[in-house]
Amino acid sequence: MRIGAHVSTSGGISKAVGRGVEIGCETVQIFGSAPQAWAFKPVPDSEIEAFRREAAEAGMERVYLHAIYLINLGAPDAARLEKGIQSLTNYMTLAAAIGAEGVIFHPGSHKGAGFEAILPQVVDSVSKVLENSPEGPYLAVENMAGMGQHIGARLDELGQIIQGVDNPRLRVCLDTQHTFAAGYDLTTGQGIENMIAEFDDAIGLSRLAAVHANDSKRPCGSGVDRHDNIGEGFIGEDGFATIMGHPAFANVPFFLEVPGFEGNGPDHQNVEILKAIRSRVGLEA
Ligand SMILES: [Zn+2]
Ligand SMILES: [Zn+2]
Repeated sequence: MRIGAHVSTSGGISKAVGRGVEIGCETVQIFGSAPQAWAFKPVPDSEIEAFRREAAEAGMERVYLHAIYLINLGAPDAARLEKGIQSLTNYMTLAAAIGAEGVIFHPGSHKGAGFEAILPQVVDSVSKVLENSPEGPYLAVENMAGMGQHIGARLDELGQIIQGVDNPRLRVCLDTQHTFAAGYDLTTGQGIENMIAEFDDAIGLSRLAAVHANDSKRPCGSGVDRHDNIGEGFIGEDGFATIMGHPAFANVPFFLEVPGFEGNGPDHQNVEILKAIRSRVGLEA
């Protein structure tokens, strides 16, 4: 179980590796462009080579890209949908170039149309991205907290997307905070067993690509997406021990997306807490 974090690419993607190493990361998640903008500037070859070299030197594997936040595969507007497909395709191409394991994305919102109504469009869009992407990287759809009309707070919805697309490269990223907010109580032995059983039934455990390891500022079932530092929220260190101790996660990379104890994002302290919990449940890197 590799422990990593989302780190900044300010100054170029290759700078992310050093930032990860500085806080104790065994892998990193990065954006490939500004996450609140559509613009995608191709990353220069020199920067791609530098990233690969830095990552190899640091022993970092199982790196992930996180897609931009503007993508909505449930968008009613065809132009906006097409932009999302293009953005994901650009990211998949970049992932292949830098040797990343995959691209994690949020499926979006059905905008009131309802999940069933929007499912064919989501399936078609994901299929297009995979068709237009180089072989290699996974495309991992992330579960949501259940805010508003977001797609994918229920594992069954992700399962229906997976079945519709029917491509082994489509995987799932499970965010612990989103899962908890969506009403799955991961903090108890029975709760995690129930969630894993539902995941396996709806999606298939072999599709679990990555975990976003975030504590929760809100209680279980709140439906609200608010990340907290590990141990400071409603999941707590014992809750993370329950999660990390489950065999389903033994070989899955964990990425922190927490506010940080100094408010500057994932930090050394959060990484160390997760590493200590990993040791406590008898696992290693
Ligand atoms: Zn995400
Ligand atoms: Zn979130």
